Amino acid sequence: MTDLQSDKRIALITGASRGIGRAVALGMAKAGIHVVVTARAQPDLESLDDEIRALGGAATLVPLDLKDGPGIDRLGGVIAERWKRLDILVGNAGLLGSLTPLPHIGPGVWDDLLAVNVTANWRLLRSFDPLLRASRAGRVIFVTSGAAGKDKPYWGGYAITKAALNQMARTYAAETAKTGVRVNLLNPGPTRTAMRALAFPGEGPETMPAPAELVPLFLKLADPALTESGEIFNFADFHENA
Ligand code: NDP
Repeated sequence: MTDLQSDKRIALITGASRGIGRAVALGMAKAGIHVVVTARAQPDLESLDDEIRALGGAATLVPLDLKDGPGIDRLGGVIAERWKRLDILVGNAGLLGSLTPLPHIGPGVWDDLLAVNVTANWRLLRSFDPLLRASRAGRVIFVTSGAAGKDKPYWGGYAITKAALNQMARTYAAETAKTGVRVNLLNPGPTRTAMRALAFPGEGPETMPAPAELVPLFLKLADPALTESGEIFNFADFHENA
């Protein structure tokens, strides 16, 4: 770990080993933010670190299974000790689960969906709330999905967890309304990642935006000047109006 300028913003990004989280980590590092990147796949975090260094940026790697609640708390302790604040929390890691009728979802798949898509994000809030409030402009971005608002057959497990995430973010936004913290949801829409390929194996990946195209919207929601809180930002709208 290198010494940091005190004015350099600190971001924690979950699910940074691949897909959207990795692109966000690269984009934020490029923007001069120190990124604390987490996921289970350590080799992928190490290759991300190489890419970030090549850009002149800086990262701290934290291999972690988000089902490990005490592990999240320990990470909170480490960031508190080192920086005494967290400026940006990106709750991006997510699971698709099985696309199957609700009664057919296996109990293990159901538990994992709830654990990663909901409980881990609540646990992150629980561990990082004091550090976000300690920032001059704490920003929280949770990655949601349009599936949350749809009653689409076979997508129930995933949709239920994203609907819960939306409610959690809006409630936390209300609870922090009188502080410097701003909490928003980002709906990427179809994006060229492993998760999308799992959901739609027959689809041509080139028909969708690459994860890097989402970076400007993440940077907007991480901006200290942002005033909105408790809202859902759809990449499709942002993209059209950009
Ligand atoms: P990917 O499957 O490509 O990446 C998921 C990330 O989550 C990986 O970095 C993975 O890391 C991490 N992750 C999964 N389980 C765990 C765990 N138990 N502990 C720690 N990290 C974990 O997905 P996307 O990049 O496509 O998705 C990112 C977010 O965007 C998700 O929340 C998804 O729901 C949302 N989204 C994606 C859309 C799309 O079209 N791609 C559309 C709408 C929403 P590792 O395996 O190394 O632990």
